[in-house]
Amino acid sequence: MEMPGLALARHKMVRDQLQRRGIHDARVLEALRDVPREVFVLPDLAEQAYADRALPIDCGQTISQPYIVALMTQALDLSGSEHVLEVGTGSGYQTAILSRLSAHVVSLERHAGLVEKARRVLADCENVELIVADGSDGWEERAPYDRILVAAASRSCPQALIDQLADGGRLVIPLGDSESQVLTTLIKRGEQQIWDTLVACRFVPLVASEAR
Ligand code: SAH
Repeated sequence: MEMPGLALARHKMVRDQLQRRGIHDARVLEALRDVPREVFVLPDLAEQAYADRALPIDCGQTISQPYIVALMTQALDLSGSEHVLEVGTGSGYQTAILSRLSAHVVSLERHAGLVEKARRVLADCENVELIVADGSDGWEERAPYDRILVAAASRSCPQALIDQLADGGRLVIPLGDSESQVLTTLIKRGEQQIWDTLVACRFVPLVASEAR
């Protein structure tokens, strides 16, 4: 349940953690101002929902830091018409943000328990499809995707994800090992791949053959 007392903390988070650090996409800021993060964290941690950090969720995973969610979403440059693939549903918080800012979201998660929980929290998001699957293979049935967001770290970007990215599409993924990772973006233009980096980050590992 959304907690009315936390609305102020949410607005403060957007101002202090996002705008002050340079998040400028108005639609992204609005989405983070609207989506109640407390609904996606463990009940005991609701009061910490707007803390400037990742928090533990079930299955030994984490809900990403709000700033990182905002930065990754901004990097996707969503106008509202996009077909999006997300790898690593986790709590479903990032999924809820993507759902507001794009036309359709396919979100993959390897833990069935997390998907079950996210399904309940995201029941009102009619443009979201949650699937229990190994996201390093992408989801061929619904490809190509205009945007791909990977919320778990890998040494290199799985080739299946690059293949399933539409021409002109954008992808964001944390690349590196368990010690050191960099949030990395890819723009695909025909045969050309334009790679860039954003900031250092720390994600749980993408547990899959290509990531080991
Ligand atoms: N953005 C999410 C972060 C989830 S953490 C949130 O804010 O809640 C990353 C998630 O990726 C974890 O739930 C983990 O189980 C999942 N994951 C890791 N490897 C995966 C894989 N190969 N396929 C699908 N999901 C994976």
